[in-house]
Amino acid sequence: MPEPESPLLVVGSVAFDTIKTPHGKQERILGGSATYFSLAASYFTDVRVIAVVGEDFTGAHEAVMTDRGVDTRGIQRAKGKTFHWAGEYGDNLNEAKTHLTELNVFEDFKPQVPAEFADSGFLFLANIDPVLQAQVRSSMPGVQLTGGDTMNFWIGGKRRELQETLKLVDILLVNDGEAKMLAEDNSLPRAAHKIRAMGPKAVVIKHGEYGATIFFADNKHPFRAPALPLDEVRDPTGAGDSFAGGFMGYIASQGKLDREVLKRAMFYGGVMGSFAVERFGTERLQSLTREEIEARFELFRELTHLE
Ligand code: AMP
Repeated sequence: MPEPESPLLVVGSVAFDTIKTPHGKQERILGGSATYFSLAASYFTDVRVIAVVGEDFTGAHEAVMTDRGVDTRGIQRAKGKTFHWAGEYGDNLNEAKTHLTELNVFEDFKPQVPAEFADSGFLFLANIDPVLQAQVRSSMPGVQLTGGDTMNFWIGGKRRELQETLKLVDILLVNDGEAKMLAEDNSLPRAAHKIRAMGPKAVVIKHGEYGATIFFADNKHPFRAPALPLDEVRDPTGAGDSFAGGFMGYIASQGKLDREVLKRAMFYGGVMGSFAVERFGTERLQSLTREEIEARFELFRELTHLE
């Protein structure tokens, strides 16, 4: 394992999202897998981002990350428009219906790892084209723990490439539908087992508002972390990436990877996911305090604790 507090590098999408939920609609607000991930992780450790944006991405957008201390020197600016995703949630807030995926500047993106980022001990391959994920992992020989994410868009569109990338991932985080699709198996434990045979040593399966389960490398019994029953979910977008940010950020802050650290990381993932969905876009993740995070962690403990 890397030293505790060795920086955490994320590669993923920085996006503009058009989102409709039963609580309203917002056009082209800042989103993207790397954005949610880095904001959530920034409460735990030093975070660095690699991504690409277009000419419509302003200094004010970038300040959302830099104000949280996120190192954005790996964000390339390209001619053209920033990645744009449009989606909608109906009454089932666990599932986004994608209306539009405009890759734009991602079409020609060649990820470059700035020299200053080469000493990152932790890497997270957030949801983007698996070919780009693999390129970044391969250019970072010093990385000692790699987390990864993906989605149905890539499982369906680039399965072969994704399988190559999975060989480079230590812990994969996916939601349950994606796990079943990737493993082509409707039983979650069997799907987790099959995914582990593809490369990852541990698999975290997210169940939206019902929590998440980690299947460990040693194949012993899995561990389930709850999700907080919230009165109101305004916008589920980014819940998965924020979970991953809390999960990886906590691991990076500890610098060791035993079962207890992983279990607490599952709780911190749930905590950050629960904050993300309380407001549209990244709003809630921009101005949290460590005290609020710890208070919610206690709520999560109480939710499941048995004397
Ligand atoms: P989630 O945490 O799963 O809700 O992810 C939400 C984020 O994923 C949104 O902010 C989108 O911009 C981003 N996203 C959606 N589709 C893709 C895709 N195909 N590649 C990369 N990022 C995506």
